[in-house]
Amino acid sequence: MSGSLNSMYQQLILEHAKHPNGKTELTENLPHDASSYQKNPTCGDEVTLWLTSKLDDAGELVICEIHWDGQGCSISQASLSVMTELLEGKRFSQADEISEVFLELMNSKGKGIAPEAEDELGDAAAFVGVSVFPARIKCALLGWSALKDATLKSKSNNAATVKATAGSISDHC
Ligand code: ZN
Repeated sequence: MSGSLNSMYQQLILEHAKHPNGKTELTENLPHDASSYQKNPTCGDEVTLWLTSKLDDAGELVICEIHWDGQGCSISQASLSVMTELLEGKRFSQADEISEVFLELMNSKGKGIAPEAEDELGDAAAFVGVSVFPARIKCALLGWSALKDATLKSKSNNAATVKATAGSISDHC
């Protein structure tokens, strides 16, 4: 990776950490149909994530909104921000695919992945430099683990419950 690309990516990560998408401190009465708490003990990063979802016309679950509150290093916070930006409005199945691509990037040991796969990641592609540092990969994956957990919980709700919730949160989606 060229030095200038590397510093551009670092800048992008710092920007997201400074102005994170989806971060809220108004966690009381936050509408959600699933939530997840995750901790990365190695670094001390913590997050609680709230997910609202709905069924689209094809009967597929869609991520409406992701809200989260957390603390930790810039990488963990920026990764949550990037993920929120990238996955809101996506079907669960699409979000799973993109999460797999991000995981592949994190396992690339700094080499990166195929350009067309990287395109799917938006700003999340900036985390390629993190994949060189095994200890920091857990920081980058914290939010993605929380979302995965929340979508699994949401899926395990029965369809009737999901439909009822979808009606009441449709304004947010
Ligand atoms: Zn961290």
